[in-house]
Amino acid sequence: MVNKIKLKKLKRISEKITNIKVNITMTTAINDERKAVVIFNKKNADIVINGNKIKEINDVIDGVAHELAHIVLNSKKHNDKFLSKWADIYSTVKIEYENNKKK
Ligand SMILES: [Zn+2]
Repeated sequence: MVNKIKLKKLKRISEKITNIKVNITMTTAINDERKAVVIFNKKNADIVINGNKIKEINDVIDGVAHELAHIVLNSKKHNDKFLSKWADIYSTVKIEYENNKKK
């Protein structure tokens, strides 16, 4: 379990990528293999991180990036277009998250 995840920073990055309001929370109530889940519409998204599956910050970034790709593409599919968008967003989130200029 990661004890210093900057959820506010992830929220800010997520809102920049999606242009909608994003809430990010963490729970231990999800009992499956998913790193995160999302519910979204045109204005808001709720991303819930599965605390049971998180061992390091990269797991969080990976899970959040996965859900952001669903939001950006407005699709639940896991096709090639999705996988490519997920990879792009993962890189963007990772760079922004590790950028310490804006805390
Ligand atoms: Zn998915």
